[in-house]
Amino acid sequence: MESVQVIIGISTKALDRPFTYNVPKHLIGQVDVGAVVLVPFGKGNTLKEAYVVQRGYMTKTPDYALKEVHEVVQSAYVERDLIRLAYWLHKRYACNIIDALKLMIPSDPHLKVKEEKVVTQSKEQYLKMQQGIKGTLEEGLTPRRKAALEAIDTVYGDAMTKGPIRLKELAQRTQASTELLKRIGEFDFFSIEVHEVGRVIDELHHQQGGEQHQLHDEQQRCIDIVSQTFGLQKTFLLHGVTGSGKTEVYMQLIQKVLDRGENVIVLIPEIGLTPLTTQRFVRRFGQIVGVLHSKLNPGERYEQWRKAKLGEIRIMVGARSAIFTPFQNIGLIVIDEEHEQSYKSEMSPRYHAREVSIKRSMDHQCPVVLGSATPSIESYHKAVTKQYQLLSLQNRAVQGSNRYVTMVDMRHELEKGNKSILSDALEKAIYKALQQQEQVILFINRRGFANFVSCRKCGYVYECDHCDVSMTYHASNRRMICHYCGASKPLSENCPECNSTYLKAFGAGTQKIHAYIKKQFPNARVARMDQDTTRKKHGHTLILKAFEKKEIDILIGTQMITKGHDFHNVSVVGVLAADLSLHIDDFRAAERTFQLVTQVIGRTGRGEIEGHGFIQTYSPDHYALMHALKEDYVGFYNEEIVFRRAMIYPPFCHILQVIVLSESESVGMNCLKQCVEKIECQDAIEKQEGNILILGPAKASIGKVKGQYRHRLLVKGNSYRELTRIRKKLSLYMEQVDKEQLQIQMDINPMMMY
Ligand code: ADP
Ligand code: ZN
Ligand code: ZN
Repeated sequence: MESVQVIIGISTKALDRPFTYNVPKHLIGQVDVGAVVLVPFGKGNTLKEAYVVQRGYMTKTPDYALKEVHEVVQSAYVERDLIRLAYWLHKRYACNIIDALKLMIPSDPHLKVKEEKVVTQSKEQYLKMQQGIKGTLEEGLTPRRKAALEAIDTVYGDAMTKGPIRLKELAQRTQASTELLKRIGEFDFFSIEVHEVGRVIDELHHQQGGEQHQLHDEQQRCIDIVSQTFGLQKTFLLHGVTGSGKTEVYMQLIQKVLDRGENVIVLIPEIGLTPLTTQRFVRRFGQIVGVLHSKLNPGERYEQWRKAKLGEIRIMVGARSAIFTPFQNIGLIVIDEEHEQSYKSEMSPRYHAREVSIKRSMDHQCPVVLGSATPSIESYHKAVTKQYQLLSLQNRAVQGSNRYVTMVDMRHELEKGNKSILSDALEKAIYKALQQQEQVILFINRRGFANFVSCRKCGYVYECDHCDVSMTYHASNRRMICHYCGASKPLSENCPECNSTYLKAFGAGTQKIHAYIKKQFPNARVARMDQDTTRKKHGHTLILKAFEKKEIDILIGTQMITKGHDFHNVSVVGVLAADLSLHIDDFRAAERTFQLVTQVIGRTGRGEIEGHGFIQTYSPDHYALMHALKEDYVGFYNEEIVFRRAMIYPPFCHILQVIVLSESESVGMNCLKQCVEKIECQDAIEKQEGNILILGPAKASIGKVKGQYRHRLLVKGNSYRELTRIRKKLSLYMEQVDKEQLQIQMDINPMMMY
């Protein structure tokens, strides 16, 4: 009798194992590994969706009657290698198998493509679009529509006049919603028609092919070394400053892989997935480039996924989850900006895309190239110890002009009587830049950071009633907002505590700096770019485009401005409060600060004009800032690694973080104390593999969120397996605790420690 093992499509611990079903005669041949089926489940035999993970014949009839598979929803839906990968994720990250399987597929297995909308553009419509962009049409366009047209122009140019493209694809590549495009279409900038699927469409036509550069020697060397390992698993760390030509190296490697008939996955941090960056790949490789990012709707995701499966897409450029692209044979995996935190998932399955990519590359026998200007300490350590092969690009690809970076000690400014957020030196430099019609970028850490309001008389601080954090002042609606739970309240005139009138906002968020700069430089065009101004689909592109076109003189922003385009006219870059990220309670604080400051500084001195960087800080002697000043990654690494070794932090250990959320403070603390006991008794009985170090339990850095207390326990160990064992033991124990009172999160090697 043919039978299959399936995973039921419901995520609970109780169902986290395969169930066996018989395959009825009429379904034989259709139910293979990777199929999605409906099976009767439970006492009521309700039909549930399930995923076939194994197939076999029963050699002897079991002593209980097996139920039968009811129906096949999709055959061959999940690739075999991805099922294996799901099992690996299940083991490594202790997630339910179904949650791992769900990473491998678009959200809904019932999605099917039947017909699709395509976009065509006549010569006349193309010209009209150009006028729309220039603003020379009679009827004006809203900024959103204009931005969408600009994005279309950026990605496609006049390519659409040569043949239709899919509406979905247009939407996805320009990050515009299909609704928006339909509305714009009504103005006759292009036409939208309905086609049957399967009808061959001549899509994006290669536009001037995207120029290929004559490679520099060091680039050529990297390509030679990596291409020698085609067909083998090997991990490379490509270290090269921004602008050293890493992307060019990726692209020429990709071409070679395509020539071998293999496919490529390119991971880019979500924040870097702007039309401006993806267009570079699209320009070079045309219609075989797929893009996956978080703004796609389920239908668009499905389309990308399906095309990758069918081989219509051969290069997938995307954020973290693109590592699960269902390619048949992968010839190369690239992870750009490999140090980025966003490669680690903060939800179950809590996977790290770097680890998954190396696992996938073993299955597919292909090289992995990790690229960064500021590699993670973990990766660089692996390169130093020869687990990865280090490749470096020492020089910039296009000789930029000089860059001078100055450290400004803000304590001296205060002594001089300058209480403003700009040091004298930076202020002067901005004046000069504006005079010469050059541009300025001002960076602050995080949106609204430290923009808390307190009373100068009694010290009262506006804090969230539900979370253990101060609230942030938002000038636009004069409200205090909690960035953890979203709660808000109005800012009162008088202190709620002592009734004095000395309430004052401290620190500086982007909003406040924006207001200050506008006042200080009334003739300058000032814009800010942060989560508030880029929430809308086009926000990001709109601002970057305007800056590129020199419609903005001073751009103020958070992390977001560290990525993006090459701006050649920026002569001044200021890091306003470089220390803010140094004082976070996280062993990676110095690393993050170094990375951020280096990246921001790198935004200047890219063109013909001289660049000036200013690092404003209260701790100018900190090694992270001193090395950032010199843009000396290796110097920073050498110092940081000593600290990591001495304090026993990754890469010299693995860390299991256990966080308990509870309504009552003592319940949470007691639960973690119990955990410590469990771990210690395990140590005593079982022969331990390596050393274990327990830190805590203690209140977490953020002690309360949404009314729930947070307590934390850290377990350091030099064996991942040992920590996995401890995690398993603790989750068994946690099965018994009252789930009403306690919620537990466990993560090995978390990227966020708070
Ligand atoms: P990275 O990815 O390291 O930031 P890029 O690959 O984007 O660097 O290269 C930076 C700039 O230099 C780009 O404008 C690119 O087109 C150009 N470039 C790269 N390699 C070469 C080369 N060999 N010759 C000339 N220009 C190059
Ligand atoms: Zn809150
Ligand atoms: Zn007061």
